[in-house]
Amino acid sequence: MNILVTGGAGFIGSHIVDALVLQGHQVSIIDDLSGGFERNVNTSANLYKMDICDPRVDQLWKEQQFEVMYHLAAQMDVRKSVANPVYDANINVLGFLSLLEAGRKNGLKKVIFSSTGGAIYGEPDEVPQTEKHVNRPDSPYGITKLIGEHYLRFYGNTYGLQWIALRYANVYGPRQNAHGEAGVVAIFTERLLRNEQCLINGDGLQTRDFVYVKDVVDANLKALLYDKNGIFNVGTGIETNMITLFRHLRSLTGSNQEEKHAEAKPGEQKRSVIGTSLIEESLVWNRKYDLKVGLAETVGWFKSRMNS
Ligand code: NAD
Repeated sequence: MNILVTGGAGFIGSHIVDALVLQGHQVSIIDDLSGGFERNVNTSANLYKMDICDPRVDQLWKEQQFEVMYHLAAQMDVRKSVANPVYDANINVLGFLSLLEAGRKNGLKKVIFSSTGGAIYGEPDEVPQTEKHVNRPDSPYGITKLIGEHYLRFYGNTYGLQWIALRYANVYGPRQNAHGEAGVVAIFTERLLRNEQCLINGDGLQTRDFVYVKDVVDANLKALLYDKNGIFNVGTGIETNMITLFRHLRSLTGSNQEEKHAEAKPGEQKRSVIGTSLIEESLVWNRKYDLKVGLAETVGWFKSRMNS
């Protein structure tokens, strides 16, 4: 198939591109490299260095007639979204909408949207949070992701576009950027490998659901084959607190750093864990990686990159 991956030079997007290329698809990428890297881009994919908000996107669709769009390009810095919600909405709402409009006029059949679990549900009423949990986004980032899902439903109902929104938990793995709005796994791994101190926010008992990027890629591939529309969590259903995560990584990196705590971050979510029975039943997706196995692969990748 002729597939567009927005954000395909980024962490998750580049792994999806690799998997699609391996399956023999024709893959193009729109990425402005604001958070991604050319070195991540599969050599068999076409990279268009472009902002998704660029009006030239329209012309590109006319020429290329992509059939499927994996949409990952996003402003994904929660703090930035709070500081500048207009900037956030410009990329995450208007940028996405421009792509949908260009696509529906030019042969787009299906969209697979990278959405978010934690940021859409907010603090849990019950755990794990299923897709039926009330949506209570407490950041502009969470709000714009939810709006993206609503637009998909609108395009599905109005134009017959097929769509799937995948609500990720905390994704980690090789190629995650340890700078900028990075995940805690990438930050801790890089610091521990340099034997630098890591700071755990507050008491460190806050929990997250860590899902390995290869399991996320697998969900994206399964979504391509699924012939209905829907919203699915992609996580593990397992809560891990920051102290446990730090200890796993300290042991895997062989570091002797002590556990140090910093002030708790005001407003930081206390618990986040999402249930996956819906995607297991509907898409026949099953998580293959335990945390320790995924972390070991991740540490191995960071190590080899630092030595090269
Ligand atoms: P990433 O920053 O590595 O990838 C995002 C890519 O989008 C980058 O390559 C960046 O250059 C590109 N991009 C950003 N703004 C752009 C724009 N205006 N035009 C063109 N390209 C642009 O981040 P990631 O972790 O791979 O996240 C990918 C997607 O998954 C995002 O939509 C994010 O919201 C979503 N998500 C990620 C996580 C996670 O834990 N990493 C969790 C939930 C949802």
